[in-house]
Amino acid sequence: MNIPKNYQVLFLPGGATAQFAMVPINLLETNQNADYIDTGVWSQKAILEAKRYGTINVAATSEKKDGLTVIPPQDKWKLTSDAVYVHYTPNETIDGVEFKWIPDTGDIPKVVDMSSMILSRPMDVSQFGIIYAGAQKNMGQAGITVIIVREDLIKEVPSWVPTLYQYKIEADNHSFYNTPPTFSWYISGLVFAWLKRQGGLAKIYEINQRKAKKLYNYIDEHQGFYKNSIHPDCRSLTNIPFSLQKDKLTDTFLAESAKAGLTNLKGHRLAGGCRASLYNAMPEEGVDKLLEFMHDFARKHG
Ligand code: PMP
Repeated sequence: MNIPKNYQVLFLPGGATAQFAMVPINLLETNQNADYIDTGVWSQKAILEAKRYGTINVAATSEKKDGLTVIPPQDKWKLTSDAVYVHYTPNETIDGVEFKWIPDTGDIPKVVDMSSMILSRPMDVSQFGIIYAGAQKNMGQAGITVIIVREDLIKEVPSWVPTLYQYKIEADNHSFYNTPPTFSWYISGLVFAWLKRQGGLAKIYEINQRKAKKLYNYIDEHQGFYKNSIHPDCRSLTNIPFSLQKDKLTDTFLAESAKAGLTNLKGHRLAGGCRASLYNAMPEEGVDKLLEFMHDFARKHG
């Protein structure tokens, strides 16, 4: 990831959900505020949690254009000039929307929840104040969370803050203030080594682009049967929600696909429908198999 020298990498427990609280607790002092962008389920959860600790301004919210979900362009955002940071979710795992651009927030640091897109492509870490991500998508198994934090954002916090929720204590102790989730951390090490053997981020990005393109193309070419309702400019590289035009066929689709060995295609319980999550560990042949199945299913039931 070419992480610059003025960043620390922490390996902490608690998942991305703990970061929803740790970010405002560590960055916001009394009477300070932050801007958040609401693009779906995960940014909304981050907003809800942050509101417990500070004044949160929701500067923009996803909307529909021609029936398709879009991320609002920056000229529609209502950022506040005194925000301490701007938080957004570059890839919304459940909604399947993704930022294809990095917002311009001037000197105000960007804090991003990269849980479902970290290590899926090369990225310029220096653009961000804090990047956080749970391990269970592209870095191994649940239990450990990676936080890449610019050093100037690691500061003393009030004494009421639980010790384990202080970036400074965790950074000073190299993520070993208490016993870390050792097995999850170990697995992440194996995944990092595996990723290097694949050819690193540039190579995995090529593969990920091919995987996503195949699936989106197939869905778009078979709109009489399947559909994805995200605007093409905001479609996730990783999480591809789709539905069947004949909604009542969804359960049959899921049952038959599971029988064919294609599991975990059920959309998140909050979204319904279907979703294919093409994390780094999903090989291109897995997508080919899915397309074959989708094709047969559409022929049979179309
Ligand atoms: N943010 C995003 C974007 C996610 O995809 C998830 C998990 N699906 C979370 C936060 C919550 O992560 P955790 O369960 O590790 O707390």
